[in-house]
This record gives sequence, C-alpha cells and structure tokens, in this order.
Amino acid sequence: MTMTAIVTYQCPACRRSYAADRPLWRCDCGSHLDLATGQGLTRDEIAVGEASLWRYIATLALSGPPRVSLGEGWTPLVWRDWQGVAVSFKLESQMPTGSFKDRGTAVMINHLLEVGVGAIHEDSSGNAGASIATYAAAAGIPCRIYVPGAAARGKLVQIAASGADVRAIPGTRQAVSEAALAAAGESFYASHNWQPHFIEGTKTLAFELWEQLGFRVPDNILVPTGYGSNILGLERGFDELERNGEITTRPRLFAVQAANCAAFAAAWAAGGDRFVPFASSPTVAEGIAAPKPVRFAEVLQALRRSKGGVVAVAEEEIVPALAALGRLGFFVEPTAATVAAALTRLLRDGTIEPGQTTVVVLTGSGLKAAERIGELLGIGASP
Ligand SMILES: [Zn+2]
Repeated sequence: MTMTAIVTYQCPACRRSYAADRPLWRCDCGSHLDLATGQGLTRDEIAVGEASLWRYIATLALSGPPRVSLGEGWTPLVWRDWQGVAVSFKLESQMPTGSFKDRGTAVMINHLLEVGVGAIHEDSSGNAGASIATYAAAAGIPCRIYVPGAAARGKLVQIAASGADVRAIPGTRQAVSEAALAAAGESFYASHNWQPHFIEGTKTLAFELWEQLGFRVPDNILVPTGYGSNILGLERGFDELERNGEITTRPRLFAVQAANCAAFAAAWAAGGDRFVPFASSPTVAEGIAAPKPVRFAEVLQALRRSKGGVVAVAEEEIVPALAALGRLGFFVEPTAATVAAALTRLLRDGTIEPGQTTVVVLTGSGLKAAERIGELLGIGASP
C-alpha cells in the first residue's frame, strides 16, 4: 500500500514549514498551520474492501495503518424528493458519535498517536467534544474537555460517558477557549479547529461523494458551516482528485450559516476575505455559531474558487426545514436542518436548478438534541 512519505505543515502567515513528525497545533508565530499539498488519489488506490474512510488511506497524511478506528466514514448517500426536486442527502449523522466530526477526529487522533501524544485536551460543548472524548477513550489516552458552564446536559453526558474529564468553565465561550489554551503546557491541545490533520480527515467526504455518485462530482454541495472544516476538507479532496486527472470539474460549495451568527456571510456581503464585525444572537443551530473562525480567509477563498457562496438562514426558516426533514426520514439536529432551509431558498431563486446533482450534507443526529427538537416542533410530553 502506498503511504505518504513526508508530511509537512506550512504556516500561511510567516511561510515557515515544519516536519509533521512531532505534536504541533499552531506555528511559533501564533498562526494556524496547514498541511502541505498531498499526493492526491486515483481510483485504483481505493481499498475497496474497507467500508470506512480508511478505504482512502493511500492518500491520508499518516505514516502507517490506523491504530484506532470505530468504523467511521462511508456513510449513506440517500436520494429523496425535496419540493419536487431529487436531491441526495449525505448522512454524516450516522457516524460513530453521531456527527461528521468523526472523520476529522479519527485521522487527527491517529496522527497524534503516531507522533507520541499521550494525553489531550480540547474545548467544545458539542459534537467535537463528544467525538474527541470518544476517540481518546478508544485509543486509551487521557482526555480533558473544557465546556461552557451553561452547556446542554445531553451533550455533556455523551462526553462524560467516554470517561473524559469534563471541566465546566463559567463565563463566555471565549473564556472556555482561554482555559484550554492555558492548559497547553499540561497536555496536547487537540483542537479540531486548529490541528491541520482534522481537515485531512474531512477531505474524505469529497472522495466518498465522488465514488458514491459513480466517480462523478455533483454540481452543488450544501454544508452547515461554523468554522468551515467541511468546506476546507471538500476543497482539499476535490483538488487532489483534479490534480490526478480523476475529475475535470469541481462542485459549487455553499456554506450555510445561521443568520443569527454568520461571520462568513458578513465578510461575503462585504466582498472580501477579511473578518468584519457583525451582530450575533443565540440560534437553534448552536453547532455552527462560530464567532471567529480560525481559517477565515481560506474558507472564503475556497467558496469563491468553487463559484458557490454563503447562505445565511433565519431561525424561522430552520425550524420548518427540521420538521420537513423528519418527515422524510431524517432525524437530525437543528444545526443540520440549516442546509435544507438553504436548499429551499436556492431552488426558489434559481441558483440551484432541478436537473442538477445536489448534495445536502446532514452533519449531526437528532438523538443529540431530542429534547430541544421536541420543544421546537411543539411535541408535548406525551405526543
Ligand atoms: Zn507562522
């Protein structure tokens, strides 16, 4: 089996590069790091007997086979009618911990094991915290997760059930991040938003869509977007296929945000790649409420290159979309319903046309938020 020989990280700010043979989550200059361009994938390199993302191991930036796996990836792609239009729904909600994060986490944790990391911590109150705590448990390494004091109990239970040390931090989400940063000397900061191998994992979404559509790329992909790790993973994956001559066109990528907290939408409307201050308020799509995404310009550039865009949906669009998805057989968390709301809008304004191949990525299971969904859909105590 071909494995990537030398893996390097590059700093987009100061251009320094590092061999990725030791634990790193950011550059000495303070910027995030990116993985250097990979060798890419051709279809004859796919390990076709492997019903998980490890079918693409030939192109992953790891030096050996996985040391830990929970069978992540190779999620179903299901066709349904959405307002009379055939659309394919990618069920990332069916991952081991119930969210798409397992793609990034599985590859990141295997890299960290390869470079000798022993104990990790992370800040998250949601799907990333649950995913990282679960994979740390599977790998047998200690894990501490910093969470906001007001985090939803259901999510905390999933984190704590893995045996992770859960530390509740009072105050803002920023205070939680600062607590995690302050702990960087005690254990490795396995941040899904910073560590570049997380995006190496999310790129396998591009390979799966291409393969599941009969080695063709779709016209459009809609993704719920907070920090943008799926957008960056899709761009990286399709880029690798294009460079190897496997595809000649790229899909339009649409980042979907909740209008109540939409950093990318604000910058997109301003026409640049720079962060612009924006007003924010709570949203039912709490999984994508990201006040200041790390790889900000990169996400916007990926969207522009793809000729896609940013769609910000209102709360009153998200809840009916959540209800409609449930009736189609997709019990997803409110965050994932944003893409269905965006699809409705893009079909209505003609941006997406009925004859095109459109993929809607459903990122998280409704089992994560059953109580909240009950409230939103007006389902009483005895339905
Ligand atoms: Zn740097």
